[in-house]
Amino acid sequence: AKSRGRSEIAYYEKGLTTGVTERMMLEGELRKALERNELELYFQPKIELVHQIIVGSEALLRWNHPQLGLLTPDRFITLAEETGLIIEIGDWVFRRACEVAVEWNRDEQKLHTVAINLSPRQFVGKDLVSTVCEILEQTGCSPRWIEVEITESLLLDDQPSTRRALNKLSELGIRIAIDDFGTGYSALNYLTRFPIHILKIDRSFIERITTDRNCEKLVKAIINLARSLRMTLVAEGVETKAQALFLENLGCHQVQGYLYARPGPKSEIEGSLLNLASWTLGRDY
Ligand code: C2E
Ligand code: CA
Ligand code: CA
Ligand code: CA
Repeated sequence: AKSRGRSEIAYYEKGLTTGVTERMMLEGELRKALERNELELYFQPKIELVHQIIVGSEALLRWNHPQLGLLTPDRFITLAEETGLIIEIGDWVFRRACEVAVEWNRDEQKLHTVAINLSPRQFVGKDLVSTVCEILEQTGCSPRWIEVEITESLLLDDQPSTRRALNKLSELGIRIAIDDFGTGYSALNYLTRFPIHILKIDRSFIERITTDRNCEKLVKAIINLARSLRMTLVAEGVETKAQALFLENLGCHQVQGYLYARPGPKSEIEGSLLNLASWTLGRDY
């Protein structure tokens, strides 16, 4: 950008972009990233194992930083949360995801859900539910096309306002997923107290599933838990055919991971995957 001084660019190029320095720079820039249109949603397909079809996509945030290039959320989400910018960014993500969901559900025969990650911060203060309703209405997005992914930590906090918000989202018809399931504390009773529809087992378990017998048993138990509570079970971070086969045999419903597709820009996902006849991937293992 023209407004940036040479010294600032040189600073980046010297690689002095770690720790406090990076943080200070990024904070100022993140404020402007929205208006400069530097944020982008990538999408990663979710595959239903039994039918081997794409049933939805998860929206994953990216920041096209003018000097640093494409940044993944680990570089800026914490910063966004600490500064409160996550509210504005979260609203943008939700709106953009709904716009895409509308496009991807033009054909009423094929439901394609779009999953949106919500930060716990989005449940504090400003009324999340009214924002969501407003965005759904303005974009013409059906709540049936949307899933929200939340973390266990949000539920363990157990605020009445959080419970109210989740109940309302669920009543609207939005499905609620617990992300990174199994990595938090083991206070499983929250599963009965909140409207939860989907469990996403964390990648750290999937990584070891074919090599570690205890891990295999644990995943099996989680799958059974999900089944008995009538929840959809999603395994994330599936990278090998062996893992996919294993999960299919264990009765896992859906998978997501590099084996099928890496997260990519909307156009890439549409080009490579969504236009395939009936979105069938075909089992080649
Ligand atoms: P997550 O929700 O657990 O998302 C899954 C992460 O794993 C993504 O990283 C994805 O690119 C990566 N991944 C997917 N498949 C594989 C695989 O097979 N192998 C490996 N090694 N990794 C895989 P990403 O896109 O860098 O996102 C990181 C985290 O940032 C997300 O973790 C999520 O917690 C957060 N995040 C992303 N987008 C948003 C957003 O819009 N809002 C909020 N609040 N958080 C977001
Ligand atoms: Ca997620
Ligand atoms: Ca996850
Ligand atoms: Ca994660």
